[in-house]
Amino acid sequence: MPEIKEYVDIVGQSVIDELYIFARHLQGKTIQNINSTPVGGGVAEILTRMVPLLRQLEIDARWDVIKGNERFFSITKSMHNALHGAAENISADDLEYFTQVNRENAAEINFVGDIVFVHDPQPIILIERKQELGKKWIWRCHIDFTEPDPNVMSFLKNYIEQYDAAVFSAPSFSRKLAIPQVLISPSIDPLSDKNRELTDHEIETVLNRFNLDRSRPIVTQISRFDYLKDPVGVIQVFKLIKRYADCQLVLAGGGATDDPEGAKVLEEVNAAAADDPDIHVIFLPPSSDIEINALQRASAVVMQKSLKEGFGLTVAEALWKGRPVIASAVGGIPLQITHKYSGILTYSIEGTAYYLKQLLNDPEYAEKLGANGREHIRNNFLITRHIRDYLMLFISLYHDEDMIYLG
Ligand code: UDP
Repeated sequence: MPEIKEYVDIVGQSVIDELYIFARHLQGKTIQNINSTPVGGGVAEILTRMVPLLRQLEIDARWDVIKGNERFFSITKSMHNALHGAAENISADDLEYFTQVNRENAAEINFVGDIVFVHDPQPIILIERKQELGKKWIWRCHIDFTEPDPNVMSFLKNYIEQYDAAVFSAPSFSRKLAIPQVLISPSIDPLSDKNRELTDHEIETVLNRFNLDRSRPIVTQISRFDYLKDPVGVIQVFKLIKRYADCQLVLAGGGATDDPEGAKVLEEVNAAAADDPDIHVIFLPPSSDIEINALQRASAVVMQKSLKEGFGLTVAEALWKGRPVIASAVGGIPLQITHKYSGILTYSIEGTAYYLKQLLNDPEYAEKLGANGREHIRNNFLITRHIRDYLMLFISLYHDEDMIYLG
């Protein structure tokens, strides 16, 4: 883990000084994060970096993960899809089981935090312990809440409103709630293995391992194999442009322990890619940070053709590397990309294909988009800004009467 002073070169001394000033107000407080997976997906990615950095600021930050079995995670995945607007069949029995597993976790977890910071719907019912334990409770929603299924939403709302505050990633996700809502976007860590500078040799080694040819442009999407990331849509785009541009497509990603759908999606992707040796489907184990970093850096264009997206850390990661990104205009992605300035926003397979062809044929324009994107990420979506927002939120919980609204 880098030392916090190493971030000065990237964000400036005043940003780091400010973190220490805020952190002083939280000395002696324990911040207990709770989510549903230690690896895979954006939440785990952020906590892995955030928790040690908070500790360097002398805040007692901790991280617990709830336990669940296959049935529990299949229910939570359906809830996740339903909150993203998909039609899902979630029975009263499923909700009962979801509640029961939460209660088992609630009985087992040692709630040491002065602030209990619960991430996403999976552990949301832990809030039932609030009445007995007191403490400050925050619910942090990382998902795209623009059109949530009304039934799942009304079930969750009962619990959300017991928290002291709710945090959303984008303004469009906020809902009518009886508690304060705060906008805090996620972030990437520029000094992690996923995002740090790599040598040419490191990049070359990864490309060779995956049999990629550096002399032809590489188009990449890095994502868990999930329908909402639309990997088959990316293959359709690639097939449309291939006769106009000689290039290779990389679809790389793994799974998450709280996502049971991955294997099925991967099978469909493999079937769609089978007839083209220029489509490389790469299954990545956890801790493939250098591989992801190298693939992003080696790409002529990075895609993120999500159908729904909480924020899309992969977009920030690619932009930070100065890569031109073409991404769907969904969820938190438009916060990161201003169309035709810091990347390209698209709405369809055909539109995505049109811009992919354009960027592959005009590398100078593509580079300019990437350079603008990098500055936008530096100013808005690095982990130092994220820590600052969280510290302000934590402090504000102890000043209910003048709650600070961020964003
Ligand atoms: N990621 C990873 N391995 C994979 C796929 C994704 O480490 O196989 C990382 C990716 O680089 C990013 C995060 O997981 O940091 C995904 O976050 P994002 O917000 O893009 O999507 P989510 O998976 O949370 O829906």
